[in-house]
Amino acid sequence: MVDLETLGTKPGSLILSIGATTFGRGASGSKFHAVIKRQTALDAGLTEDAATVAWWAKQSPEARKTLDLATAGGTMTLALGDALCDFSTWLYNECHDHKERRVWGNGASFDNVLIHGAYRACGFYPAWDYTGDRCYRTLKALRPDIRMNRTGTHHNALDDAVSQAQHAFDILEGMGYGW
Ligand SMILES: [Mg+2]
Repeated sequence: MVDLETLGTKPGSLILSIGATTFGRGASGSKFHAVIKRQTALDAGLTEDAATVAWWAKQSPEARKTLDLATAGGTMTLALGDALCDFSTWLYNECHDHKERRVWGNGASFDNVLIHGAYRACGFYPAWDYTGDRCYRTLKALRPDIRMNRTGTHHNALDDAVSQAQHAFDILEGMGYGW
């Protein structure tokens, strides 16, 4: 499960952070989190949207730490290309077979599409095949009776990925999906 914090909702929008966790019965629960230097994403040609910048001003101080870190671009942040390389390496370590990687994002048009745009902006190949794209937003719409138990900070990419992964697991188990 991957979750992005961004400064826009369109393909090609700027990514502030990438959070991800493996999930499923027997999965390690291995986690990934990177905060991206905002200027390096602008330099790569990713774009910011005024409405999303305004939206961030209304979020909690804990959530806004990601925006502040990315903007300051200090030692706790990575250049966009380095963050994407690290994410690809993490995916590779968790699943060596490119074709077997399943990447769940929140919306068929959101996380996976935006991260693909960032890979393209850096001149990289995406770290998974398009057949591995999965949509958590569709999954949760199928079972509105199964609620999410959110943990951590809402709009922290890693905390969101962990909460969404547990929710997706609960839904898939509720639907009798064989792991
Ligand atoms: Mg999020």
